Amino acid sequence: MESAGAQRRKNRERTVRPTECVQAESASETQPEVKNLIYMIGDGMGLAHVSMLQIAEGYDHPTAFMRAENIALIKNYSSNNRVTDSAASGTALATGHKTNNRMLGMTPDSAAVESIIARAVKRDMPTGLVVTCHLGHATPGAFYAHVSKRTLYDAIYSQFVESGIDVALGGGAKYFDAGNPEGAARSARLAEQGYRIVRDLADADTIRSGRLVGLFADDSMPYALEERGEEYLGRATAKALEILDNNARRQDRGFVLMVEGSMIDYAAHENSAEKLLPEMRDFERAVEVAMAFVDAHPGTLLVVTSDHETGGLSLPSGHTDFTRSESGVEYRFSTESHTGIMLPVYLYGAGAERINGVLENSELSVRLMELLGVR
Ligand SMILES: [Zn+2]
Repeated sequence: MESAGAQRRKNRERTVRPTECVQAESASETQPEVKNLIYMIGDGMGLAHVSMLQIAEGYDHPTAFMRAENIALIKNYSSNNRVTDSAASGTALATGHKTNNRMLGMTPDSAAVESIIARAVKRDMPTGLVVTCHLGHATPGAFYAHVSKRTLYDAIYSQFVESGIDVALGGGAKYFDAGNPEGAARSARLAEQGYRIVRDLADADTIRSGRLVGLFADDSMPYALEERGEEYLGRATAKALEILDNNARRQDRGFVLMVEGSMIDYAAHENSAEKLLPEMRDFERAVEVAMAFVDAHPGTLLVVTSDHETGGLSLPSGHTDFTRSESGVEYRFSTESHTGIMLPVYLYGAGAERINGVLENSELSVRLMELLGVR
């Protein structure tokens, strides 16, 4: 017997299943409300992580998150667990379908489902992925791959090279290594399709349009606290926006860019506030870059959200005596895993007023597809 709770959850999912939403027909026939979409995901970033950054920066210096024009909350449980992993939540955010933990780009019964990026590619819209993890990791993978297990990296990378995504910047060089047959074949396949491959972001300085794959580490990139620094994600986001905007103008289309602050999650798994803050700063600078792009390019919507909270971070007062003027805060983690807490969605730019309230993570994706006219 199914529990009443499980039945209620199923019903809720049913209400957001894209095929049953009747508004889609008319929306796709009219001019889309949003031309360009910048979809930013702080992996593992909960409200406490955003608050931690704001407290560290000081309230006299509002972070980019504070400039949001509208906000929403998303529920992120997966089809088979109250606490989601990145594969199931990535799939929900990318495709509008919830699935089981570990599955990528598929429903629980293994039916492949199309992401917002795959839908954009079909419509000749330029698309891009910018991450700090490796390009086959769960969140970016959810935007192009269909596999039953998120760790099937050979299959994931083979699907990546056929994805038609214009710009992809992150780690993962070992999956393109000429020293092994699969890696060599993938590199050859990219070259055949006109991609330029760079190993350092600075090598892309003169590349302003076309197709680009940046492989900046064998696996995931180093922490911002270590060699990566706090400038990478903003610079990579600016480069991707420049190329996609130029490609989009040539094709008289809008574009879709997904940017992930991937290693907020890694630092939170380690319960390391020292590593977490620089990851948040790097992500926030990328949000600033995206906001500046939105300001200069009407018709662009920026959505900043997360796939799940990692670490169970809380920010208790450093002192129980609240009569003291400044007691500081402590960073306390309650788990080395993920939590089931709802997540913030920050919206800025065209159509920002169209999304608010409490949504399923999958429903957020469906709404974005509608606004972009790719449903
Ligand atoms: Zn995640």
